[in-house]
Amino acid sequence: NETILSVENLRISFHLQDRVIQAVRGVSFTLNKGETLAIVGESGSGKSVTAKSLMRLLPKQTTRITDGRIHYQNMDITTISPRELESLRGKEISMVFQDPMTSLNPTMKIGQQIMEGIVQHQTLTKAEARQKAIEMLKLVGIPNAEERMEAYPHQFSGGMRQRVVIAIALACRPNILIADEPTTALDVTIQAQILDLMKSVQEQTQMGMILITHDLGVVANMAQRVAVMYTGEIVEIGPTDEIFSNPQHPYTKGLLQSMPRLDADRQEPLVPIPGSPPDVSRLGTGCAFAPRCPYVMKVCHHHAPPRTSLNEQHGTACWLQDQRSLKARETFQMQ
Ligand code: SF4
Ligand code: MG
Repeated sequence: NETILSVENLRISFHLQDRVIQAVRGVSFTLNKGETLAIVGESGSGKSVTAKSLMRLLPKQTTRITDGRIHYQNMDITTISPRELESLRGKEISMVFQDPMTSLNPTMKIGQQIMEGIVQHQTLTKAEARQKAIEMLKLVGIPNAEERMEAYPHQFSGGMRQRVVIAIALACRPNILIADEPTTALDVTIQAQILDLMKSVQEQTQMGMILITHDLGVVANMAQRVAVMYTGEIVEIGPTDEIFSNPQHPYTKGLLQSMPRLDADRQEPLVPIPGSPPDVSRLGTGCAFAPRCPYVMKVCHHHAPPRTSLNEQHGTACWLQDQRSLKARETFQMQ
């Protein structure tokens, strides 16, 4: 497994008028060539912030990466110059968002928008770039690709627009694709087609993919590994089949029971996790999940759970998993 991206102890804060929020609190993970890593968690858990930070797309005025590193090739993305960043974006690392309109220019023809990316990063003549753009539109399943080069974004349906965005993202054969809920807004059939497309491009190019989704069916279908985020931390990470069949963290267990899975005909009804995520500007020193956790122990309120690993690939941060927890529990009970 060749690691192509490695994130170490990433911390990101939001600076609002009256307070500072720790949106990402010590996140670490790696991405391998050709693999898909899914990131799941409730909204506000820091998934999108983490994803955006990988391309430094967070608003400069209000957001700060306060610690950590993002290693890509020989660079640390957290510190490279705007110029180096520009040469990575869209060429080596591409991103697709939930709403295709945020990444398309409404006043520019689709063909031009695809060609722009191609020309920017490759030395091609205009005619070659045009040919490549048409190829990309065909690849993502846009009918009459040649004609559609002349159309504007509003002349496409939502599903077709998202295909165009994916065509742009894939046009330069990136090493990494970051997809933040790329199909959430689309109906199920189109969702499946677009995911299949992303998968087949991945098989051809061996790009690594970070996929943010709230759909466990999509996770099962697409991802070899899953990271579960809660209040800015990864509370569990591991191979998809292990996380589904043998979840360790109480939040992961709750999430699996509360999230829809469109691919499996589930018999049990969805069970929401009681309570809601805490206000991240007021987190204490203990486990952030403690107020909602059915297994909470005294130690959990006072000390952050250590990270432990079940095996080389599967890790979690919960006192239940720690050998020291018994001792710690005893100590706390004695007090
Ligand atoms: Fe629950 Fe404690 Fe584990 Fe947190 S550390 S998830 S509160 S058992
Ligand atoms: Mg989000």
